[in-house]
Parts: sequence; structure tokens; C-alpha cells
Amino acid sequence: MIDGKTHVRGIFSKTEQRRLNFMDEQMTVNTDGWHKQPHYTQLALDVMKRIENTQLVPVTDPILKKPLESCSIGLDRKELHDRLLSAMEHYQGIGLSANQIGIQERAFIMYSDVKKKEIITCFDPLITEYHLDKIIMDEGCLTWPGLWLKVERSEGIRCVYNDVDGELVQVEMHGLESRIFQHEYDHMEGTNFTQRVSRLKLNMAKRRAAKMKKKSMFSMSA
Ligand SMILES: [Zn+2]
Repeated sequence: MIDGKTHVRGIFSKTEQRRLNFMDEQMTVNTDGWHKQPHYTQLALDVMKRIENTQLVPVTDPILKKPLESCSIGLDRKELHDRLLSAMEHYQGIGLSANQIGIQERAFIMYSDVKKKEIITCFDPLITEYHLDKIIMDEGCLTWPGLWLKVERSEGIRCVYNDVDGELVQVEMHGLESRIFQHEYDHMEGTNFTQRVSRLKLNMAKRRAAKMKKKSMFSMSA
């Protein structure tokens, strides 16, 4: 007998596995070969709520192309922080902008130190200075899963933002921290990392990503 759940374990990412488990919980048809889930468990309800609150908008959504104005007056920063954190963890990212999950607010969350697991949420961020030294690094984005691009950016930045308590933070960033901030900042401005490479490089990377996807589909059915 093929147990779908066991069969696919280890092939799907944690996120995909979570989705499969979610689908499993939804199963209410009492047909031979399908197991019956007679009612929504609390877990299923929790997962459903989590998915609803953390759904990434598709690449084509116009919200991603709109430069974001300052945060709304009376915005519940803590609530937005919680949603961003929940979504970033759900998709296992190192940074996420509010517009990526359909929220039109000038805010993002990111790891300020990945190793120490330090996270900051930036409201109304502004980059004031760019270091002249440029660095090329591989970059990915949760909105384009599987797409990796070599993007040139300043090694360091000076920036300001409001934190979750509304305090103004002025800071200088370098290395990965500066890289993530600049990546999310693009989202604030209605642009993204695909606009920072040539069309040729982008097309090549897209082909590579499509090939990798095909490969993983093949290994899944093998
Ligand atoms: Zn991104």
C-alpha cells in the first residue's frame, strides 16, 4: 500500500510538508483509500489561520510594484510585526516585506544577525548613505522561489527606521545585514532584485531555476 504521507517525506521542504499535512487534515471524504478526518482539529485550524495570514502574493500582484508611502497613522506595529515574523518563519526566509504578503505598509522584517538569530522590524525605513565599495553576492527572494541572482550592492549603508515601539533608530550596517536591508528596501520602493541584473542574466537564471524544478519533480516520481 502506498502511504502518500510517508512516501513523500524527505522530498518536500518543511513548508510543503506542512501544506500536505494541512491538505490531509482537510480530507473529509469517506472513500476507500482515503482516511477520514471527521472534524477540524485545533491543529488544522491553527495551520489554516497561519496559512491565511502568511500567504505570499503572486509575482504578478500590482502591490509589489507600488512604491510604499509612510505607514498608516494608528498602525498596530506589534500586530504587523507578529504577522511578518510568523510569515518569515513559515517560509524560512531571512527577510520579508509587508507588501510580499499583501499588506500595503512601508515595513519589513529581517535578521540583523542570522547566527545570533537577532531580528529587527523596520517601519518607514530610509537609506541615507551608501558605501562606495560594491559587492556581488547570490541573492534569492521568497516571491521568486528557486531563483538565484548575482546582485551587486553597496557593502555598507547608513539608514534610519522606526522600531516596533516607535523609537527612531539610526544605524550603520555592513555585510549580510546591509545586503538584506537593501533587498527589502527595494520592495519598499516597488522594485525587486530581478531589476538589478541584465535581462540576459535574468533569463539564464530563470532557465536554471526551471531546470532545477524539473529535476526535483523527476526525483520525486522516481
Ligand atoms: Zn525579496
